[in-house]
Amino acid sequence: MARKTLNLTDKLYDYMVSVSVNEHPVLKALRAWTARMAWAECQISAEQGQFMQLLVKMLGAKKTIEVGVFTGYSSLCTALALPKGGKLIACDVNKEWTDIARTYWKKAGQEQKIDLCLGPAAETLKQLNVLKNRGTFDFAFIDADKGGYDGYYEHCLALVRKGGVIAFDNMFMGGRVADSQHQSPDLKVIRRLNKKLHTDTRVDISLVPIADGLTLAVKR
Ligand code: CA
Repeated sequence: MARKTLNLTDKLYDYMVSVSVNEHPVLKALRAWTARMAWAECQISAEQGQFMQLLVKMLGAKKTIEVGVFTGYSSLCTALALPKGGKLIACDVNKEWTDIARTYWKKAGQEQKIDLCLGPAAETLKQLNVLKNRGTFDFAFIDADKGGYDGYYEHCLALVRKGGVIAFDNMFMGGRVADSQHQSPDLKVIRRLNKKLHTDTRVDISLVPIADGLTLAVKR
């Protein structure tokens, strides 16, 4: 099969960013703050954040879910793209990181759109997954512990509406997903999930080679 997706050189990457990324000043400040942290790579890239904002706007999304908040960059991207009165249910277990997130949500004047649920996301989603909420969400972003991905997917699939989108981060696992020399429980989970999504008749998918691989699944 001929290769159709360009391998981004640093030069081409910088060019892409220079001609397309418009990062909100508070997002920029949050990126700079988070860059000093040991876990900085957990933060999504600016072009991915902007791509997700576009998705949220294209969907006309009003109700969204995020699994894995970290310091709040992606949730702030989503909140900024939501209309007034829009809602993001944000799930995370880490108080220290989400305290930072809250500060920046507030700085950007978006805190009223975000409901932070501190605790295991599987529990939060299970509680959310009652009849009145099913099929009512427009968008879900899954970017948390890889072992939980398939469970988060099943919950989110029940919660999003027909035509709603579930986005999965890190589906390339830093490129290791395609290298059988690398084996870890997380890699096995993601490989299994990629296979499952490929033939899952409940959704239409695309594995978008942006950042570390972002799979979009649209509910049929
Ligand atoms: Ca991630």
